[in-house]
Amino acid sequence: MMTAEEYLESLRRLRRKVYLFGERLADPVDHPFLRPSLRAVAATYALAHEPEHAAVMTATSHLSGRRVNRFTHIHRSADDLVTKSKMGRMLGAHTGCCFQRCVGMDALNALFIVTHDMDRQGGTDYHRRFLRYLEMVQERDLVCDGAMTDPKGDRSLPPHRQPDPDLYLRVVEERADGIVVRGAKVHQTGALSSHELIVMPTVALRDEDKDYAVAFAVPADAEGIVYVVGRQSSDTRRLESGTLDRGNVTFGGHEALVVFEDVLVPRERVFMLRETAHVGQLVSCFAAYHRQSYACKVGVGDVLIGAAQTIAEYNGTERASHVRDKIVEMNHLNETLYCGCIACASEGRPTASGTWLVDTLLANVHKQNVTRLPYEIARLAQDIAGGLMVTMPSERDLRSPEVGRYVEKYLRGREGVPTEHRMRVLRLIENLTLGSAAVGYLTESMHGAGSPQAQRIMIAREVDMAQKTRAARRLCGIDEG
Ligand code: SF4
Ligand code: FE
Repeated sequence: MMTAEEYLESLRRLRRKVYLFGERLADPVDHPFLRPSLRAVAATYALAHEPEHAAVMTATSHLSGRRVNRFTHIHRSADDLVTKSKMGRMLGAHTGCCFQRCVGMDALNALFIVTHDMDRQGGTDYHRRFLRYLEMVQERDLVCDGAMTDPKGDRSLPPHRQPDPDLYLRVVEERADGIVVRGAKVHQTGALSSHELIVMPTVALRDEDKDYAVAFAVPADAEGIVYVVGRQSSDTRRLESGTLDRGNVTFGGHEALVVFEDVLVPRERVFMLRETAHVGQLVSCFAAYHRQSYACKVGVGDVLIGAAQTIAEYNGTERASHVRDKIVEMNHLNETLYCGCIACASEGRPTASGTWLVDTLLANVHKQNVTRLPYEIARLAQDIAGGLMVTMPSERDLRSPEVGRYVEKYLRGREGVPTEHRMRVLRLIENLTLGSAAVGYLTESMHGAGSPQAQRIMIAREVDMAQKTRAARRLCGIDEG
C-alpha cells in the first residue's frame, strides 16, 4: 500500500491536460486550488497505515491474499459491507468533505458482478480481463474514478437521437487493438485525484444505442483526455493568504468535466462492449453501492453538529433549552442516516460472482434520506450559529493594524474564548452549509449517485406491494379465495 507522500508523487508522474479558469495548469498536483482535494484523498492512504484505523481502512484481497486498501477491495461478506459504511463515516468526519475515492471502489465491485454475469450468459471474456485489471489496481494501490454521468443533452431523447451524438459517451471506431471512444463525463468527483478512469454507461440502453453500451478503464493521462475543473462556491478563498476564511483549513473536494476526444482503449481494458442487455444491471449495481457510500455524509454531519455545539458554547447559548433540543434533533437526523447505510450493508447478500451486494431497496431508501436530512441539519446549524456567519469581516481585517482591534473587540463572544476561534468555527459552518463543502454536503447529497427521482423509481420497483396488500386483506377478513 502506498503512503500519502507516495500517492502524491505518483500523481505528479501523470501527464494530464488540465484546465482551470481557461488556462492549462502546468502542475495540477501542487496547485493551491486542487491541493485540499488531493490532501483528502491522501488521507485514505495515510490512515491505512495507522494501526488504530487499519481494520477499517484495509482488507485482505481475495485475489492475492495480501493486505490492500479497502477502497480497492471486493466485498466478500456482509461484514465487509458494514465496514465500508463505517469507513465512509470515519473519513467524512476526518476530512469534513468528499474524499472522492468511493466511486472507484463502487465501480470495481459493480464490474466484478456484471462482467461475471455477462461471461456466464454470453461466453465472453470480460471477467478475465477485469480480474487482471483489478489485480493491478490492488497491487499498485491506485485511485480509480468511477465515471458514469454523461452530459445527456435533451433528456427526452435516447442517445442515438440526440442532435449531437457525443452527448453520451460512445464507441466511434473498432480496431484490432481496441476501441476508440468519444464523449464526456460531467461533474466527475475526484477526477484530478485519480490514477485511472473507469467509464460506464449512465442509463439502461436499447439495441439502437449499442455503441453507447461500453465500459472500460483508461489511465488518467491517456491521450485525448481533457479535464476542465469545475467551480465551487467560495472556491477562490483557497487562493487567498491565510486559512481562516476557508473554514476547513486542510481538506476540500473538486469536480471536473472530463472530455474523451477519440481516446484509444486497448481491448484488455474493455469490460463491456455493445452488451445492451447488461447495461441496466451495471447502472443499478453501481448506483446501489454508491448510494450506500453516502455514509460519508454522516461523517460530515458529525463535523457540522460538532461545529454547531462549539459555536453555541462560544456564544454562551449552549444551555438554552431550544439550542439543546436543536442539537438533539441534528443528532437524531444524522443517526437516522447512519441507520440506512448500516442496514443496507448488513442486509447485503452474495451474488453469483461471490461478491456481496448491498440490499438495493434499503440502499435507495438511505440515499433518498440523504437528499433531505442534511438540508435540515444545515438549517439547524445556521439557526444556532447566528447571522454573523455570513456578515463577518475577513481574516485580513482581523490581522489589520488599523481595524483588527475593532474586529477583535466587537466580534468577541463568551469571556475566555478568543475572537479568532469564534470566527474559525463560524467559517467552518459557512463552508459546510453554503461554501465549497456545501457542494458535497448539500447539492451532491441531492444529486450525487442519482437524483431523488431515481431512488423513488427503484423504491417503487423493489418494494413487495403484493405481500403488503395480502397482509392487510387477511387481517380485515377479506377472503379472495
Ligand atoms: Fe465518496 Fe461521498 Fe465523495 Fe461520493 S460524495 S465520492 S460517496 S465521499
Ligand atoms: Fe458521488
